[in-house]
Amino acid sequence: MIAELAEGILRQDHRALAKGITLVESFLPKHRLQAEELFAAILGRAKPGRRIGVAGPPGVGKSTLIAEFACWLLDREADSSVAVIAIDPSSPIHGGSILGDKSRMARLCGYDRAFIRPSPSGSEVGGVARRSYEVLLLLEAAGFSHIFMETVGIGQNEANVAKLVDCLLLVQMPATGDEIQALKKGVIELADLIVINKADGLLKASAKLLYEQIKSIQNLASPTSTTKDVILCSSLEKSGFVDIHSALSAFFARQHNTERFGANRDLQAKYWLQHELSLQFSEALGSEPYRSQLQDFYRSVQDKRETIHSAASRALSLLTKPGFK
Ligand code: GDP
Repeated sequence: MIAELAEGILRQDHRALAKGITLVESFLPKHRLQAEELFAAILGRAKPGRRIGVAGPPGVGKSTLIAEFACWLLDREADSSVAVIAIDPSSPIHGGSILGDKSRMARLCGYDRAFIRPSPSGSEVGGVARRSYEVLLLLEAAGFSHIFMETVGIGQNEANVAKLVDCLLLVQMPATGDEIQALKKGVIELADLIVINKADGLLKASAKLLYEQIKSIQNLASPTSTTKDVILCSSLEKSGFVDIHSALSAFFARQHNTERFGANRDLQAKYWLQHELSLQFSEALGSEPYRSQLQDFYRSVQDKRETIHSAASRALSLLTKPGFK
């Protein structure tokens, strides 16, 4: 059954892929064993696609931009294929709303070279991030040339996405009032490419203003370092897509030429392994029989019978004893 699933995924069969992702995202021990079997069959066959994170505040048009840009790309390049995933359960591509949502992803759903995966409903953001690394591997085994990962641009979500993708695209939109306030320096620094969406109709003039503001923030922040591309676009009018495409191509060419592409992925693999290790470690200590033993460690630290370092070392040694699962 798993061998069949693996074959389906390698063929880019959407049903097999959906099943595989469900398996990988499951926290049931039985499913984990099956997921490991699945990875044993496909891991060596994943070829790197372009992993593109799309971040930005709610309502700036991330879903619309991904959907319209992906349709544009698929129309233009016969050998392209696109996968879209969301890391945030509150995203519009979440749950059952996706197929019923005419304005955003519906048109993209019509392409057989497009695969859209809503977040598992009710999932914790941390949980989604924990498995997202593996979901990306499944999508790459399926051979997608472009993988878009959408997130709401707030805090931890965005930082997690930055550690999962090759390129982080930050979406902004013009607004009347204090748009500059929303542009935190840190967010701009995290981004590889900044896209100002909704540069159309009445918003066009303020989109240009925002463009100038971002440019000046960039110049102030780091006048010497390479400034990131800032692109004006309208997902509704499908303008600016050529610029986004060229900027992405130039970015990936640069990453490959300077070997930053592989180095970045190596760092990410290391990060997610460490992340998983610490989660497994605290999960193990949080369950019996270790949880009760941990209470003794807490007490001995509170009563000043032992240092934190010593108690932590003893806790660690519990897990290295034979019999730890
Ligand atoms: P998200 O929350 O960032 O994913 O934003 P959505 O894609 O859901 O879009 C929010 C709203 O902005 C929707 O009503 C879209 O129709 C609208 N929208 C998206 N892109 C554009 C655009 O390029 N121009 C204009 N005028 N509206 C847009």
